[in-house]
Amino acid sequence: MIELSGPSDWRWQLRHAVRSAAELGEKLALSDEELEGARYAEANGFPIAITPYYLSLCDPVDANCPIRRQVVPHVAERQSVVGDLRDPLGEEAHEVAPELVQRYPDRALLLVSDRCAVYCRFCTRSRMVGDGGGPRSDARLAPAFAYLETHPEIKDVIVSGGDPLAMATDRLLRIVERLRRIPSVETIRLATRVPSALPQRITDELVAALRPFHPLWVMTHFNHPKELTPQAREALARLCDAGFPVMNQCVLLRGINDDSRVLSELFRGLVRSRVRPYYLLQADPVRGSGHLRTPLATGIRIFEELQGRLSGIALPKFIVDTPGGFGKVPVGPDWVVRRHAGVTRFRTPRGVEVDYLDPPEE
Ligand code: SF4
Repeated sequence: MIELSGPSDWRWQLRHAVRSAAELGEKLALSDEELEGARYAEANGFPIAITPYYLSLCDPVDANCPIRRQVVPHVAERQSVVGDLRDPLGEEAHEVAPELVQRYPDRALLLVSDRCAVYCRFCTRSRMVGDGGGPRSDARLAPAFAYLETHPEIKDVIVSGGDPLAMATDRLLRIVERLRRIPSVETIRLATRVPSALPQRITDELVAALRPFHPLWVMTHFNHPKELTPQAREALARLCDAGFPVMNQCVLLRGINDDSRVLSELFRGLVRSRVRPYYLLQADPVRGSGHLRTPLATGIRIFEELQGRLSGIALPKFIVDTPGGFGKVPVGPDWVVRRHAGVTRFRTPRGVEVDYLDPPEE
């Protein structure tokens, strides 16, 4: 059969994504742990998907490659560790209509598909991502739109899944257009891994089609500086040039980016691409991902190192999304040494202690 398109076409990338243990073994020299993990994922677990583009960023022989560890299954996925949950953010308990989750008074999350360009082994939504349902139909999403119409307190809708940008453009536009017809929805955010896993998708045509629906924010997901390739930077430039505010949510992952030098390089690279590092997320305790999670103390130490090293625009908030869906909490090192009688003593990233004096009481 003649291929009508090639690797620079996003549909070709999706059609040629690696989805089985056997294919993965042909492309990479898998360790025993990876091979067993891939067979387990294929048979019972969270499915495999890796675009040829993202696979090309993986080291073919080194199982510790930080790109490879994000998408190649590991036998440890079979294990549960203390605190693991199937639905760590309690999204099912907060579902107010099919595919619509409301955990905050003014925001809602619309899950429009179960498909992504790649399946990240630490995905918070591994319970439903890749479950085969595909993009949700208009009829399936109708009650969610009806709910948004009758709840004008919801001002901000995050379109997620799965990955909304892995859908066909006409379907995506129908969803965005439908949301824009709800006067109380002020902001629409597209949560997507496509700029890092399938940058070919960010075409001039896509950007032009979405542009009339501003304000439309794009929430990207870059976890490692190696993901900031020329193609990814071009995709980000296309979004920024078209006026989309672009923010990045990075997940802190053991053996992948749990190093302040790696994260500094990532966050500086994002800023150079006009992307604001928004959150550094403590990994959610999702079932089967314990081997990729760091202790919270590691994140706090790394964040302290970053605070002394990065400017405010490059430094994201370090966030724990509390298990059960009770909301996000910013965490960080404690810079206050003591407080007494209007005097607060701080330690600073430069290693000196400084007093801040309150003004005299009236
Ligand atoms: S792209 Fe996002 S939704 Fe899809 S598997 Fe990765 S983390 Fe999960």
